[in-house]
Amino acid sequence: MLPVQRRRASIPWARPRCLSVAQRQREACTGLTLKAPVGSVSGMRIVLMGAPGSGKGTQSQRLVERFGIPQISTGDLLRSAVARGTEYGRRAKAAMDSGQLVADEIVLGIIRERLAERDAAHGFILDGFPRNLAQAQALRTMLAGIGAPLDAVVLFEVDYAEIIKRISGRRTCPQCGRVFNLHDASSGSTPRCDHCDDHPPLVQRRDDEEGTVRRRLEVYERETRPLAQHYAAQGLLRTIDADGPVEEVTARLVATLSSVPPAQPSAHAPQTAP
Ligand code: AMP
Repeated sequence: MLPVQRRRASIPWARPRCLSVAQRQREACTGLTLKAPVGSVSGMRIVLMGAPGSGKGTQSQRLVERFGIPQISTGDLLRSAVARGTEYGRRAKAAMDSGQLVADEIVLGIIRERLAERDAAHGFILDGFPRNLAQAQALRTMLAGIGAPLDAVVLFEVDYAEIIKRISGRRTCPQCGRVFNLHDASSGSTPRCDHCDDHPPLVQRRDDEEGTVRRRLEVYERETRPLAQHYAAQGLLRTIDADGPVEEVTARLVATLSSVPPAQPSAHAPQTAP
């Protein structure tokens, strides 16, 4: 049974520091009003970890907009593979619909291809990957091979009861793809798309159904959450409170990332014979 409880942890806030002129200029350019320097976030290699629905995707998007580092979401890559009917997509679909993890071999194949693209050479945000120990170890080996270790892993702590409510109220327009929420007053009580001319009825994604959401949370607790300990042992883990308004969570995330020292490639170098 999934423990529906409030997960909280101490938040490693960056201590406010005096800003140099250059730092002030950087803040002005990025439109951020934070008490910590932000320049170091550009070019970072980051993993965002958290339960489904904890806001990793939304926060990744904000980092993309502000710092120009690409978001790599295995969920998005897999959904795109399913929509295009590729071999990976066909093999992944059943697991995705039932809320289970897709086989490591498929996910690793997809991630290896994506990390080899040019834009990933100057930092990236991994959203939804790794999701188990085998994936974390494979990622470490892949990155060690190119001398580009992770800088930080940020764990999003959230209230599970809130997640279940949020995801199970999510509805999608089958025509334009817009996402609405039945619990959001602005969506109105009629589950129809108000952006399309013929107002098609909204549909619920299979993996957003309440039973599936609970299964996804159970899988997260069993397979993914233990990675927090794995990354803490490597000194990479940072934890943030991901409940609350999106803007506030972004401020916490950026402050946390800004306090991370650059990764030391030598500490993660590939372990090959001399
Ligand atoms: P997400 O949008 O990240 O919640 O992912 C949607 C679904 O894609 C998950 O419920 C899994 O079935 C699958 N998936 C995404 N990322 C992974 C991963 N790293 N490993 C295995 N399955 C994944």
